Amino acid sequence: MSDSSGRFVLVTGGAGYIGSHAAKALAARGFVPVTYDNLIHGHRWAVQSGPFVEGDIGDRAKLLETISRYNISAVMHFAAFAYVGESIQRPERYFNNNVTKSLTLLDALVDSGVRHVVFSSSCATYGTPDRMPIAEDTPQRPVNPYGETKLIMERALHWYAGAHDLTFAALRYFNAAGADPDGKLGEVHSPETHLIPLVLNAIDGRGALEIYGGDYPTPDGTCVRDYIHVADLADAHVRALDYLLSGGASVAMNLGTGNGHSVREVIGVAEHVAGRKVPHRIVPRRVGDPPILVADPSSAARVLAWRPQYSDLDCIIRSAWKWHSEYSKVRPV
Ligand code: UDP
Repeated sequence: MSDSSGRFVLVTGGAGYIGSHAAKALAARGFVPVTYDNLIHGHRWAVQSGPFVEGDIGDRAKLLETISRYNISAVMHFAAFAYVGESIQRPERYFNNNVTKSLTLLDALVDSGVRHVVFSSSCATYGTPDRMPIAEDTPQRPVNPYGETKLIMERALHWYAGAHDLTFAALRYFNAAGADPDGKLGEVHSPETHLIPLVLNAIDGRGALEIYGGDYPTPDGTCVRDYIHVADLADAHVRALDYLLSGGASVAMNLGTGNGHSVREVIGVAEHVAGRKVPHRIVPRRVGDPPILVADPSSAARVLAWRPQYSDLDCIIRSAWKWHSEYSKVRPV
């Protein structure tokens, strides 16, 4: 392992949707991703690069052993619960997993001398801002426990960094979507709550899509979001890691395209890509959904020279449809 010293990166939640794509991007750039996942929401098949350790981020002994065994030099921390609705119903689950256990991870990193963390944060830390696009200096006022837990961890990283010679990049994703352009990885949540997979399920006859609200103050009455391709997110993570490893200061950055698309636009593009109709109906608004969320991604462009390559809506939905079609053949009904 000494040959690759400095190249082993711990990827917590690396068997999940975004983590698995980041592990693949790390491997493509000469790093060795060490996936650390408890498989509660992650999938063993999604670990396709580097070693796998089945473990929980609350397990200090296993973390210390893994960090030492692989001579870990940096961490990408994805492991978290991420259902906004569930976080409102069961906040204790979110504070325990996303905060208490994440602090156990941070302590293990500090105690092992690991000095760089790329942290999976979220635009949910902003809540419902009144100015668009959202720049990083927009006040962070989460409106659900999920966003609150991500904000708490950003603040913890800030204070740990000051005290412990650690640097971090907090990456605030907008709407992660799409699938690995090679078709090997993609989005599989259970239950699925995200718009694009549900649109594709509806095309497949798995029930009509429910549009949450048709009377928003947006051009077509449906919510507008900034969809960012998961492969572009993965690329940004590797760039952020390179930035930290070469001495960059701690930073928080939005990852989005700066372009918003409505629910109806997503349906229109999906119908075009699949050549089939999306059965749908309008239902009442979902609690906590702001009308419009769009990023100002200029910091990531400036600091990381990051430019999304796959994130036009057509490309996102084509990759998601390809994955959906492949995965449908093997998944349990
Ligand atoms: N949405 C919808 N029907 C669904 C799921 C989502 O109309 O079954 C809308 C939702 O209101 C939001 C957008 O699609 O405006 C994206 O929702 P998603 O849950 O994918 O991501 P979020 O924006 O909540 O992170």
